[in-house]
Amino acid sequence: MDTLFDLIIVGLGSHGSNCFSHFSGKMKVLGIEQYVSPHTKGSHNGETRIVREMGYSGEYVDIARRSLELWQKLQDSTSEQIYVNSGGILFGHATDSQFRDYTQFNNPNLQQLKHQEVESRFPIKTSKEQQFYFDKSAGFVRPEIAISIFINQGIQKGGKVINNCRYINHIYKDDEIHVYTDLGVFRSKKLILSLGMGIKRLQNTYQLDVAIYKQQVVFFKTDNKNFDKLPVFMSENNSQEVYGFPRVNGEVKVGLHHFGPSLEHPDLYDQTKSEEGTVNQIRQFLVKYMPELKDAAVSRVETCVYTSTRDHNFTIDFDPRSKNTIILSACSGHGFKFCIVMGEILEEMFNTGVQKYKSFQLSRFQKPKF
Ligand SMILES: Cc1cc2nc3c(=O)[nH]c(=O)nc-3n(C[C@H](O)[C@H](O)[C@H](O)COP(=O)(O)OP(=O)(O)OC[C@H]3O[C@@H](n4cnc5c(N)ncnc54)[C@H](O)[C@@H]3O)c2cc1C
Repeated sequence: MDTLFDLIIVGLGSHGSNCFSHFSGKMKVLGIEQYVSPHTKGSHNGETRIVREMGYSGEYVDIARRSLELWQKLQDSTSEQIYVNSGGILFGHATDSQFRDYTQFNNPNLQQLKHQEVESRFPIKTSKEQQFYFDKSAGFVRPEIAISIFINQGIQKGGKVINNCRYINHIYKDDEIHVYTDLGVFRSKKLILSLGMGIKRLQNTYQLDVAIYKQQVVFFKTDNKNFDKLPVFMSENNSQEVYGFPRVNGEVKVGLHHFGPSLEHPDLYDQTKSEEGTVNQIRQFLVKYMPELKDAAVSRVETCVYTSTRDHNFTIDFDPRSKNTIILSACSGHGFKFCIVMGEILEEMFNTGVQKYKSFQLSRFQKPKF
C-alpha cells in the first residue's frame, strides 16, 4: 500500500478500537488487527466488565470519573445495551489489605451499608465480621458490543481497517514510521501499539515489566430474578478476591481476581485447558455469600488474559526513540473501563509530547545503568 497514513493503530481490541474511533475523521487512520475484533483470543471477551470509581485513588480518580461520563454518553447515543448503572457493592474483612485500601479512599459515592439493609435489598448473605460498601455510580459495560461500535464509528469517519494482519516490528525512516507486518509494510507519521498480551513480545525492546495471567470466569444458569437486582460486586475474603455481575440473559457471571501462575509467552496461551479449581472455589464463595445460587448449573466457563505490570498500573508512554509512537498496554486486569477515555489521553500526549500520568510511565521500571 502506497498511502502514507497519519496514524497507524496496531491492535483493535479494547483500547486500540477506542483510539481508532477517536482519531478517525481527524486524520488519515489505519487500524491493523491480527484477528477480526472483537474476538475471544485476547483480554476483552466474556460479555461484561465492571466500571467503577470505587477503589481508585491518585491519578486514576479523574479518568475513572471521565470514563463513567463517556460510557453514559455512549449509552445515550444508541439503542444497544452498552452500559448498565447497576451500582456496585464491595465487601470484605477490615483486615484484608485490598479491601482496606479500597474503602479508605475518599469516594463521595461510597456509602457503608448495614447488614440488614444488604440482605433486604440484595441476594447476599452477610456475616458479622464483614463490612459492606455501596457505590451508586458503578455498573457494567458490554465489551464486545462497545468494541464493535468503536470500530464501526471509525470506519464511518473514514478510517481503514486491515484484519488478519500481524504486526512484526517498525523502524523510523526520515520522518516516517515503517510498520512491518505479515501482509507487507505500511507507512505512517504516527503509531499506536495497543497489543494487549502481545506487548510481552516487545519486552526486551522496551524493558517492559509485564506478565500474562490466564483467567477463567464461570457462568451460572439461573431463573432466579433476585439476581437481576444484584449490583456488580467485588469481595475480598482472607485475600481471595471474587467479583461478579447481575443476571444477564439468564446467567450470573462470577470470577476470581488473581495473579498467577504467569505465562512465559503469549504463544503458550491455551484456552482449552481448564484452570484447576476455579469452579470449586467460586462454588464455595456462593455457598457462603449467595446461597440462592449455590446449586445453579454451570452453563459455561470462559478464558481470558490479564496482562499486568508489577505495580498493576498501566503502561502508556512514548517509544523512547520517538514521540510519534505510543505504547498503550498492560492494563493489569482492570483496564477495560478506561478504554473509552484512551483516545482523549493519547491525543493530548501526541499534542504535548508529554505523558503527564507518572503512574503509567515506562521509566518507572527501568533499572539505573551503573
Ligand atoms: C477475566 C477478565 C475480567 C476482567 N474484568 C474487568 C473488569 O471487570 N473491568 C475492567 O475495567 N477490566 C477488566 N478486565 C481487564 C480488561 O478486559 C483489559 O484490561 C482490557 O481488555 C485490555 O485491553 P487491550 O486493548 O490491552 O487488549 P485486547 O482487548 O486483548 O486488545 C489487544 C488487541 O491487539 C491485537 N494484537 C496483538 N498482537 C498483535 C499483532 N502482533 N498484530 C496485530 N494485532 C495484534 C489482539 O488480537 C487484540 O485484538 C478483565 C480482564 C479479564 C481477562
